[in-house]
Amino acid sequence: MANSAPTFSIQRIIFLAVSLVLCVQVGWWINVQIRESGRLLRARTEVLNASLAGAWQMDSLHLLAAIGASPDPSSRTGSFQGRFATLPSLEQRRAAIQKRFPHVVLVPSPITPDDIALLDGSAFLSLRPEPLLALKNQRWHSVIRAASEGAFMVVAVLSGFVLLYRKLAEELDLKLRQRNFTSAVTHELKTPIASLGIWTETLFTRNLSDEQRLRIRGLMDKDLARLNELVGNLLDVARSESGSLVLHLAPLELSPWLRAVCEAMDQRLEAGSLGLRMEFTSEPLWANVDPKAFGTVIENLLSNAFKYAAEPRQTTITLDGDGEDVLIVVSDLGHGIAPKDLPRIFHRFFRVGDEMTRQVAGTGLGLFLVKEIVTRHGGDVRASSRGLGLGSDFTIRLTRIPRPEDA
Ligand code: ADP
Repeated sequence: MANSAPTFSIQRIIFLAVSLVLCVQVGWWINVQIRESGRLLRARTEVLNASLAGAWQMDSLHLLAAIGASPDPSSRTGSFQGRFATLPSLEQRRAAIQKRFPHVVLVPSPITPDDIALLDGSAFLSLRPEPLLALKNQRWHSVIRAASEGAFMVVAVLSGFVLLYRKLAEELDLKLRQRNFTSAVTHELKTPIASLGIWTETLFTRNLSDEQRLRIRGLMDKDLARLNELVGNLLDVARSESGSLVLHLAPLELSPWLRAVCEAMDQRLEAGSLGLRMEFTSEPLWANVDPKAFGTVIENLLSNAFKYAAEPRQTTITLDGDGEDVLIVVSDLGHGIAPKDLPRIFHRFFRVGDEMTRQVAGTGLGLFLVKEIVTRHGGDVRASSRGLGLGSDFTIRLTRIPRPEDA
């Protein structure tokens, strides 16, 4: 994970640049759409005005000239020219003009020489307001449509980019974790094997007292236990991923079983080094549990409480009932976990910090397995921490069942 920062920042810059270009393009598109709708509005208004002028030219020019010469309404005479002037009645002319120019109306009005169109001395031509209003509305609609389509496009494309970015970041993170895992596993395998090699050579090449042999045997047992735990975890993860991790759930009284697992683990780590306190309720609590798999859960949590705390350690394991559930809490007063890391510690291969600076041995599989096994028991496990240096709590919740004899 040490070299993750530059890759992520290059990726981030590319995504930001592409998003920016995209937003500018969509902004430009909205601008073009709005300008285009303004141009259309003007063009259509001109067409309407042209139809007014057309109607006027075809029927009224002559009369206006006559009125201009003689403003007295009683002396309005003159002949109509144009296509409609031949129609005998005013009604017919009106109907014909209306048909030919649907956007033009004949408005009865007192006439002045300033009025534009005149037909019969009591009416002038005018544009209907409705088509103009409709055009203006159309323009607003197209502006609103362009803006909302643009906004939708921006939101859709940006969310696509965010999803893609997250997916890529996850993939990249998983790859880095996998790479770290390979080197961690290699190290985890090599260390006890090298140590076992040294002890074997010592046993066969040196003259040792019984006491020394016994001490070396104890150390070799520890190396073997470490190897056993690692290989067991690797196998369980492989089985869980291939779907072949079969659990044999059966009713189990938790208190005596948990006590035995904790004591065995304490012995394995180094008697008393966990500073383990067991606070178990006196009430008999039963749950459907696979003892072997659930043993792995407790061992991993205790092993972490050992690894991620300095001496003198203080580890507490509590067992209690909570309504329909059973709660098992493993707490330590060790390094603690930063809030930003809490959501990821159950992820496969995840380890806090990076491989170059990390002091404690591990593979990042323990908590993944814990989560997997507890979930397969129909339970739930959560981690919390009061902060760095203030310890961590792991809470397991299982469904409580009645004692088989009472069921
Ligand atoms: P491993 O211990 O092999 O690294 P785990 O999956 O067991 O892998 O744990 C993942 C990470 O969570 C560890 O690397 C460690 O940083 C953190 N962690 C787990 N348990 C504890 C704990 N009790 N206290 C502090 N940090 C912990």
